[in-house]
Amino acid sequence: MKTNWKRILVWAVLFALIILSILQCNRQIRSNHEKQLVENLRIVTNQSVKTIETELYAQEARLQSMVAEAETTINRGASTDEIIRSLNSLNQLSGFKRVGYADKDGHAATTDGFHGELRDFSFFQKSVKGETVITGTIMDTMGTTEPINVLSAPVYLQNREICGIVYATYRNEAFQRLFDIDSFETAGSNCIVDEESKVISGTENLPFDSNKDTLFSFLESLGPDAADTMGEYYKRGERPDQLYFRVDGSGESDYYLYYQALDMGQVHNQWYVVTIVSAETLHKEVSKTMGAISAMLFEIIALVVISFILFAYDITSMDRKQRKELEKIAYTDPLTGGNNYAYFKEKVSKDDRIGYLVSMDIHSFKMINSVCGNEKGDEVICQIHQWICETVAPEDLVAHVNADRFVMFFPRLDKDVVIDKLTQINHKIIREMKHVDVPQLSAYYGITRLERGDSVEKAFSDANFARDSIHEKKDIFYSFFDRYATQHVLEEKKMEDSFDEAIAKHEFEVWYQPKISPDTQKIVGAEALVRWRRADGSLVSPNKFIPLFETNGMIRILDEYVFREVCKEQKELLDKGCSLFPISVNLSRASLYSMNLVERYKEITQQIGVVPEMVPIEITESATADDGPIQTLAEDFHKAGFPLHMDDFGTGYSSLSSLNSLHFDTLKLDKSLIDYIGNFGGDQLIKHTIALAKDLGMHVTAEGVEDEKQVAFLQQLKCDSIQGFYYSRPLSALEFEKRYAGVQN
Ligand code: C2E
Ligand code: MG
Ligand code: MG
Repeated sequence: MKTNWKRILVWAVLFALIILSILQCNRQIRSNHEKQLVENLRIVTNQSVKTIETELYAQEARLQSMVAEAETTINRGASTDEIIRSLNSLNQLSGFKRVGYADKDGHAATTDGFHGELRDFSFFQKSVKGETVITGTIMDTMGTTEPINVLSAPVYLQNREICGIVYATYRNEAFQRLFDIDSFETAGSNCIVDEESKVISGTENLPFDSNKDTLFSFLESLGPDAADTMGEYYKRGERPDQLYFRVDGSGESDYYLYYQALDMGQVHNQWYVVTIVSAETLHKEVSKTMGAISAMLFEIIALVVISFILFAYDITSMDRKQRKELEKIAYTDPLTGGNNYAYFKEKVSKDDRIGYLVSMDIHSFKMINSVCGNEKGDEVICQIHQWICETVAPEDLVAHVNADRFVMFFPRLDKDVVIDKLTQINHKIIREMKHVDVPQLSAYYGITRLERGDSVEKAFSDANFARDSIHEKKDIFYSFFDRYATQHVLEEKKMEDSFDEAIAKHEFEVWYQPKISPDTQKIVGAEALVRWRRADGSLVSPNKFIPLFETNGMIRILDEYVFREVCKEQKELLDKGCSLFPISVNLSRASLYSMNLVERYKEITQQIGVVPEMVPIEITESATADDGPIQTLAEDFHKAGFPLHMDDFGTGYSSLSSLNSLHFDTLKLDKSLIDYIGNFGGDQLIKHTIALAKDLGMHVTAEGVEDEKQVAFLQQLKCDSIQGFYYSRPLSALEFEKRYAGVQN
């Protein structure tokens, strides 16, 4: 979700940047366009100026040739009629409406036969003073009243005195045509104005009525600011040679103006060429360009975006494909082609469903590999995988973990259904294996319940634990995970881990249980029994840790430790002058075969200073089944002076033959046998066992004696000593010394 927002933000910023750059580009184009326009205005105006100037020179030259003709004629002393005649011949080709000559008093005669007075005309007044002038539009007074324009110049006598003027009259239309120039392909308008900004000639599309308004009055009509630029000059009585400005009228009436002075040659008055383009026209042009450019930009952007999307799609689809392939590789078991554990874990975790997770293993599968070869082994695994898949329902999940291990998930809550499925798998394996040329196989399973939110990893390890717990038990093929069993294993692990420290810190305490003679009711011996005082002060019974230490070999250290402690105790009692009795020490079956056992024990007695007779060794009866080695060991102990007690006789492993084959000094009848007292068969068994032991020269100690009846029975059978709660429970060293060794603490 977070990533999506980030992506949206990135895209938004990207689009904003694109829009901004389009706007910026737009502004840039407008400004460039405006610059371009000004330049165009300048060029167009310049061209117009050049064209007009050329025309003006031509007209002027034509007039000057007539003036020259008139001067020649006058200097010859010719009359006005003669002057007119000579002018008339020149006028044939000129295209003037008429040409005329006026003397210095203003009496004029024309080539089209008119006579009149020019005294009041301004062009006459200026030309008679020596100026060549050209008028704006004035009204004809000779024959017609049409609008005309007049070009006039002075005529000099040989003595450089002015004798009159020659003037040429244009029909206003013809005059207009002479100076009519198109600008901006009719998008703009063009005019020639005089110094008073009166229009001399102009295109038809001028934005004002040139008959009524001057250029300046037009600008004034646009608003107070509009005329300012020109107004400044006008106020100063100046006329700029060249001027560009934008007229900001209101709204639509914005104009761009270019104003340039004409080189009038000998003509005395001053004209200006003005090109006017409306801002609206310009904007239309710009908008058109902008529209085209924007469309192009958008097309480019759209193309870029589409290409990007296609590219991204391509990449992601490639990515998806690759990911799918990678996932396939990552989640497929290379051997069976089915799911592997990674897939199983992912799928079960993702679905977060409840049900039963089953870990499966095959008994003695290694045998297949070693007997038939790994290839055959792999083949069998694939077949088993297939049989499992054929048996489970489509919603169940199966995966091959490694070697001969599989894991399954049953998304259901009825454990009987799960067990039924496992039974079916087992039957199928047994049935199908008959057709496969390998030894028979059977599977066993560990099952655990998976609740919502449980870790699949943990459930799998629980199921493995349950499965391993029945590894040795061929008669059961499934086991449910039991939390307490795990706890037990954890406790055992803790005990293992803290063993060395416990030995170093003397956490193992030796307790003593007396052996009492039923005849004298006096103590004749004791058995040393170990306890573990944990750091929290609690006392742990040997049944909790002895079996564990027997499996991991630590018992050898513990047995030797206890033996040494008992030796020290005997030495202490000896030193205190107490009367001694033998204190027997247990030697575990697992300790029996440690290197130089007898020598080491003997050495300990010597080091501490006690005789071996005072520390008899108890060996459990079941250990005596290992014929050869135990016999040698028993002999070695005897040779070293240690009396030997056969412990736990009657626990089920006992055989009477062991009594004969091995030389033990004392036979300890186990509590389980003693408990038979009062039962006829039991009584007989005990009676004969005691008798047999006695016949073989052994002493007999009865263990686990708890009541008087038992004591009486054993006394009657001449049992040598009794060890049991009837007399005393095992006691701490202090308590024992106080009660039985007469030590005053
Ligand atoms: P064990 O060697 O057969 O010791 C006799 C066990 O019977 C002792 O249990 C003792 O407390 C118990 N017992 C004696 N009289 C009675 C009675 O009247 N009623 C009942 N219910 N029980 C009675 P404990 O001390 O719990 O020791 C259990 C076993 O642990 C021992 O059986 C022995 O096999 C083993 N063990 C104890 N200490 C050592 C040791 O230092 N080394 C080795 N290897 N094993 C030891
Ligand atoms: Mg014992
Ligand atoms: Mg015993």
